[in-house]
Amino acid sequence: MADWRVPLSVLDYGVEEADAAQRVIASKWLSMGPEVAAFEREFAEMQSARHAYAVANATAALHLAMHAIDIGPGDEVIQPAINFIASANMTLLAGATPVFADICSLAEPTLDPAHVERLITPRTKAIVPMHYGGNLARMSELVELCKRHGLALIEDSCHAVGAAYHDAQGRAPHGVMAGSIGDLGTFSFYANKNLACGEGGMLVTNRDDLGDRIQMLRSHGMTRSSWERHQSRAGYDIARPGFNYRLDELHAAIGRAQLGKLLAGNQRRRDLLARYREGLQGAERWIMVFAEQIEHSSGHLMVVVADSTEMRAKAVETLRESGIQTSMHYPSILEFSGFRDRFRTPLELTQEFSNRAITLPLHPGLRTEHVDEITHLLRAIQ
Ligand SMILES: *Cc1c(COP(=O)(O)O)cnc(C)c1O
Repeated sequence: MADWRVPLSVLDYGVEEADAAQRVIASKWLSMGPEVAAFEREFAEMQSARHAYAVANATAALHLAMHAIDIGPGDEVIQPAINFIASANMTLLAGATPVFADICSLAEPTLDPAHVERLITPRTKAIVPMHYGGNLARMSELVELCKRHGLALIEDSCHAVGAAYHDAQGRAPHGVMAGSIGDLGTFSFYANKNLACGEGGMLVTNRDDLGDRIQMLRSHGMTRSSWERHQSRAGYDIARPGFNYRLDELHAAIGRAQLGKLLAGNQRRRDLLARYREGLQGAERWIMVFAEQIEHSSGHLMVVVADSTEMRAKAVETLRESGIQTSMHYPSILEFSGFRDRFRTPLELTQEFSNRAITLPLHPGLRTEHVDEITHLLRAIQ
């Protein structure tokens, strides 16, 4: 691993996580036990959601979500191409076809509801927006579209843990959290996420019918978990085939420790985003994404869009020379060899974003001097 002076992201781990792991080791119970149950309860409470199911990772959560609403051959699922590959992969592996819609703008790289509407056909089954960088997609419009056309809404909320929805007027209709607005919401606790367990995820729903299905699909299609069997000594039935997408007790215990730090960590991330915004004020070559919505963000990513591809390359090089790590979220899915021949419709803003965006360091431990240094370096590039 390269030794960056200013890395993109650093884990906020300490004695809380070590104590949590030790508690599980001392208990000698490793799977589907009290830690998973408590993690689900605490997560659902933070979300004000009826159900939260801990799973092995967010890719598993997306796969379960697609199965829970019976997405399969012949179905189309509308989603952004500026996204991690998991949602498109799971759509294809469920036997359905992803249909890619463009983003709203370079400053708002989430699903454009007007383009989504033009792509709806009788085969459309679901819409899967992604809350880019922890900033919510235009959920009022997407919820309304789904209602009007009878579609399911799955929120890929992997970036947005702990973010609450506000509409264009800045109102929070019901104080609804990202992931609890549509039918299903997916979260990732991968090592670089705001809440990190290494591997892990959560699938959230307010629908009791989907909750029952998810619980069975997550664990082989069994009607009872091993923990419940351990407690009640009853048997189990298989109503339909399922997966093993469970989370284990060690990861759940560490997840609970991380959940305890989440909201303060997100606030620190927002403060740093505001500092970045201040530093980039009036810098005409750079667009900071979602700069006007920082107060509603989970602050997962700090992303700027350069005025050209060359400018982006210069910036990446300048920062690298100063020991500052950058990344890119994300290359357009349409550029991957497994996708570009199948999905030929060009998406203009998606392509521009993919050519010009850079991800800059952001994590709760990042120092303001480093933010200032980065914005000075960016401004100085000719
Ligand atoms: C991290 C991430 C995923 C995948 O999460 P895993 O837990 O690694 O499976 C999916 N979608 C988005 C937007 C992500 O950021």
